[in-house]
Amino acid sequence: MSECLFCRIVAGEVLADTVAENDHAIAFRDINPAAPTHVLVIPRVHEPNVAAVASASPEALVGMFQLAAQVADDEAIAEDGYRLVANTGAAAHQTVFHAHVHVLGGRTMGWPPG
Ligand code: AMP
Ligand code: ZN
Repeated sequence: MSECLFCRIVAGEVLADTVAENDHAIAFRDINPAAPTHVLVIPRVHEPNVAAVASASPEALVGMFQLAAQVADDEAIAEDGYRLVANTGAAAHQTVFHAHVHVLGGRTMGWPPG
């Protein structure tokens, strides 16, 4: 059994509130939402961050962003606008080291991010 939480979600060993999936990625609601819509998009393959996905599996990176766009459409946040965030490394507040993109929307975002 994997020690990686998100690999365990991919394997169905940990339940998640899944909203969409495709061949390369799975989208599920963040357990601690920071916006009215807060969905995580993760690749099925284990890579520690999106930069590593880009190197190891470019098709998975494309699949992640296609799924993120689908989630934004499904959640009706695409028209107003939404934010995609890929915290990369501890200084950027990455806490789960299986690549993921946050899809955040449903409110006006501040800039610059904290
Ligand atoms: P990051 O800080 O960018 O690594 O984001 C990790 C995200 O995973 C955080 O926003 C957490 O709230 C979220 N998270 C952690 N465990 C779970 C879980 N079991 N299901 C859904 N989201 C989770
Ligand atoms: Zn993993």
